[in-house]
Amino acid sequence: METLIQNCRIIDGTGAPAYTGCVGFDHSRIRIFRGNDLPAAKEYIDANGSTLVPGFIDAHSHGDLTLVSPYATLSKLNQGITTQIAGQCGVSLFPTKIDSPDVFQRFVSGIAPYPDLPVDLNMLESAAGFNRWLETLGSPITTKSFVGHGTLRLWAMGYENRKPDQTELQRMQNMLRRCIREGALGLSTGLVYAPSCYAENEEILALLRVVHEEGAIYATHPRNEGDRVVEARSESIRLAMEADVPLCVSHLKAAGRQNWGKPRAMLAEFDKAIERGLNAIIDCYPYTAGATSLNVSIPPGYFSRGMTGLLEALKNPTEREIIREEMSRQSDYDNYVYNSGGFSGVYVSSCPIDHSAEGMFISDYAKRQNMDAFDAYCDILIRNNGLGLGVYFHMSEDDMVEILSHPRCVLGTDGLIGRPGENPHPRAFGSTAHAYDLLVRKKKLLTPEQMIYKMSGQAAEFFGFTSKGRILDEMDADVLLINPDAFLDTATYPNGASLSKGIERIFIGGKQISLPQIS
Ligand SMILES: [Zn+2]
Repeated sequence: METLIQNCRIIDGTGAPAYTGCVGFDHSRIRIFRGNDLPAAKEYIDANGSTLVPGFIDAHSHGDLTLVSPYATLSKLNQGITTQIAGQCGVSLFPTKIDSPDVFQRFVSGIAPYPDLPVDLNMLESAAGFNRWLETLGSPITTKSFVGHGTLRLWAMGYENRKPDQTELQRMQNMLRRCIREGALGLSTGLVYAPSCYAENEEILALLRVVHEEGAIYATHPRNEGDRVVEARSESIRLAMEADVPLCVSHLKAAGRQNWGKPRAMLAEFDKAIERGLNAIIDCYPYTAGATSLNVSIPPGYFSRGMTGLLEALKNPTEREIIREEMSRQSDYDNYVYNSGGFSGVYVSSCPIDHSAEGMFISDYAKRQNMDAFDAYCDILIRNNGLGLGVYFHMSEDDMVEILSHPRCVLGTDGLIGRPGENPHPRAFGSTAHAYDLLVRKKKLLTPEQMIYKMSGQAAEFFGFTSKGRILDEMDADVLLINPDAFLDTATYPNGASLSKGIERIFIGGKQISLPQIS
């Protein structure tokens, strides 16, 4: 036995009650000891009554986009995340082809301003190369990725706003099948982002048939999270049931004050589908603000000519006036700015080139510049080549708490992150501790065991990780020693990168690791 941790309370990640025992690490695997008959070990650790929990699983991480960044690694590890599910919302790092690296880079930058890519983009031809690259990085965090439908469509047919022809569809199906066989979790859609949003349900269903045949999973960011969120979420359930695939409902929410309260109906429909045999989970982050690209509020039609086309439209006075009018009202597409109550509800989190608006609400920034808020927004986009991340204050806490405490909801950070010095959404650094504090301590809706289950074993069961997320014999020794009373987030909207408290030690594969130092 390499290590023996004695005198600890164990919450094993299955939802079972905590118990006192000893845990050994035998060649990176867990061994449990309940009695007094203990083996010899090279190293003994006295836990002093602290609690041992499984390393947390981030069920919705986007961590594949920042695999090299120590800052991104810190954001996960500081809150106890040792495994992350990635490639959601239609965006994965594979498949791609090297004859269009700029287009691919800009596509990925849409949600991660500084994506980490291998020097040799050939590696991202399919899931196998991505996994090989992942291994060379030696990250302490285990990453498993979906095939993003946007990435797949971009690979097959660029930004074309039309149906795929038979050959294109077949190429997508074949590549999806290949990636799943090479270890991808299934298909993710991001039906508000171009080019995923150009797909009709017929195309999604054709791809889900492959997901079904390969025994994989469907994760979806739906077509709408605002005024038509109920219909959009029903559509995902219908597609998953029709294709007979397990469904991961990505970041369930209802954006926009006029839509608050709708999650109750969505959860009821979800429960009915479960009763009818659907295998599904929900992921959710514990905050009332979301974060995504700043450009997401521009009507989707403007993206069909790529980022260059979008920038031209913003610079053209006539087109700018049309966009202003479309963005000022409720419309067919998911208008994030409208749903945040206008530009006073949109906070600029990070920008890749011109940082002058970072850390401010767009309305405040506009006042400071003596400008109209919409024009200030356009100028921020133009100065940053159309990119940047915004934090959108558009949800209700009651809805969020109701979703998170649902027995089929697991925790996902959705933690997109920029560079050190920029201010991320606090979910990137604080989600696990914030959720624990909110649901266990403040609202008293869940027991510590139930909350830990949501952050470990429940996701492991759904995603089929047979050796992660639980403290049982033979599982991977990815565990945390925590003081539950002190487990608390300190990340806030003004200071999003502040570290969580209460995690005393982190072990991955049986080895204690320390947090990366960020200079
Ligand atoms: Zn999403």
